[in-house]
Amino acid sequence: MQRTIALTLDPNPGVVRTVQTFNEVTNFFLGIGFANNTHSTKLLQKLGYEEARKRWPALQSSLVQGARDCAKEMLKREKGKRLPVKKPNSSARFNQRTFKAYLDSGVLSLSTVEGRQKVPLRIPPYFHRYSHGEVVSLRVRCDHGVLRADLIVDLPDTALPSLSKESTVVGVDRGIINIAVTSRNDFFHSRDLRRVRGRNRHLRARLQAVGTRSAKRRLQRLSGRERRFQADVNHCIAKEVVSRPFDVLALEDLHIGMDKKSGRRFNRKLGGWAYAQLESFLKYKCEEVGRRIVLVPPEYTSKDCSRCGARGVRKGSEFVCHSCGSSLNADLNAARNIAYRGMSLIGRPHVNGPIVAGNEMWDGNQVDPSYKPPVLTGGN
Ligand SMILES: [Zn+2]
Repeated sequence: MQRTIALTLDPNPGVVRTVQTFNEVTNFFLGIGFANNTHSTKLLQKLGYEEARKRWPALQSSLVQGARDCAKEMLKREKGKRLPVKKPNSSARFNQRTFKAYLDSGVLSLSTVEGRQKVPLRIPPYFHRYSHGEVVSLRVRCDHGVLRADLIVDLPDTALPSLSKESTVVGVDRGIINIAVTSRNDFFHSRDLRRVRGRNRHLRARLQAVGTRSAKRRLQRLSGRERRFQADVNHCIAKEVVSRPFDVLALEDLHIGMDKKSGRRFNRKLGGWAYAQLESFLKYKCEEVGRRIVLVPPEYTSKDCSRCGARGVRKGSEFVCHSCGSSLNADLNAARNIAYRGMSLIGRPHVNGPIVAGNEMWDGNQVDPSYKPPVLTGGN
């Protein structure tokens, strides 16, 4: 797996000029590619390389090729519809021929327009856990005069547990009121998040009514702050969920069956980038500690009874099943259905219970392995 170490470099005019030159050369290749309606590496090389070397002799040949490849990717994305332009201070990419990072001694050596330079490399403490990895590439950009570097590190994959009858599966339901609920009764609610949103909603309406440029700027800052807050909440939830003991995490697959028939709850789920973000954080953290993730079909996870499988009804935040008479928190019911689907997906025959659910005992062995149709096999 790959991880990124983000850090700041000391002020260095040579590196800044290198970043800017890299972007000039990229724009040069972009112009050529657009004019000739191509994103072929071979053609870009043939049409532009010699000229680029002549015009920007100080830029090392590998960096010129890097700029060419960067232009190729941007042209490919635009599909010839528009001429893409690279901003002067945006990221320049260095490959293994143009830089070397010595994580132990804290030195970064890189090719610049002023020759090879050595700059101090200070890895923030948080990233020390990646320092055993192999540094494979480097991106440097100039952010309001500050040099920011991303070191891309290749780390050995953590071994995944083999699946067996003993594998424990935890289902996670993602929602609005409760951001996440696990089948093990962990509730992560969104009270703080909603408070921030509520406070901002009022301010936003006022700013939108004003409509001046400075009001628009404030609106933008506001949405940035809200996003960062949500990201922080998602990080905390993902960290907490992954810290619990389990082998497999089951989530609803919100990428499938996107049609209007799927219902309001489901469509709302799809719309929120926050759900996708929580999913990516969970995947990321599971990958690091060697846990598996399965995505399960989302249909009826909130409508079926997790105890007997019959279709139930929702009363406020409660799920009520008239078939078996069980009644429990609706999100918890969904999380358990998700866990069951995860189990049947990995072919796990039984849940090893009992798992204590509030004041009721939840014996997972009551559930049929194939889930459809669920059959009650044990006593209550
Ligand atoms: Zn039931």
